[in-house]
Amino acid sequence: MECKHCKGICIKKGCQNRRQKYCCKACGRYQQKTYTYKLCTADDDQNIIKLNNIGVGINGIASFTGISKANVVNKIKQLSKKIKKPVITENQQEYEVDEMHTIIKSKSSSCYIIYAINKNTKQVIDFTLGARTKENIGKVISALVHLIPKKIFTDNLNIYPGLIAKSIHSTNQYKTNRIERFNLTLRTHLKRLNRRTICFSKSIAMLESCLKLYFWQ
Ligand SMILES: [Zn+2]
Repeated sequence: MECKHCKGICIKKGCQNRRQKYCCKACGRYQQKTYTYKLCTADDDQNIIKLNNIGVGINGIASFTGISKANVVNKIKQLSKKIKKPVITENQQEYEVDEMHTIIKSKSSSCYIIYAINKNTKQVIDFTLGARTKENIGKVISALVHLIPKKIFTDNLNIYPGLIAKSIHSTNQYKTNRIERFNLTLRTHLKRLNRRTICFSKSIAMLESCLKLYFWQ
């Protein structure tokens, strides 16, 4: 076999996905005559984001695009790294904060998605993953306080009063309806958050990547 890169001579060396691999004697690079999975193109990048955000899981994306599962996972991580938290310049807005429960790897390891949305625009201001500790919730709240909010609506969790000034805090249960509805949308649109299925996140990094793609792409 002739090398694709330098036209040198390739010899058989090792295999991948039950296919013979060849190693170039001149440049030392590996290649195969035919590949099981295709390479990821720029169009595939867009497809992966789109599919991820409409409730298709890793398996589904892989079989639809013809890219290997491992590659889809890597691509999602890679794409999400490019996404920066949006720079928001607004003040005197109303926000809703909530925590959504999910699991990582097994039922015993629970994780919360703590996030804040603008009540009117429904834009996700910030989010963090982890236990419902003062530290984690504090990260989201400080992003809000930075924007000089008019009011912050939360549930009755006892951590909030210590973080938000009483004058701008409200725990009225009917005032968090936007974010409660957002929770349901999130559960429908991200496969790993679907209820009553065997879908779940294997790692916190992957959950974070998928959320970033959903919130800010
Ligand atoms: Zn070569």
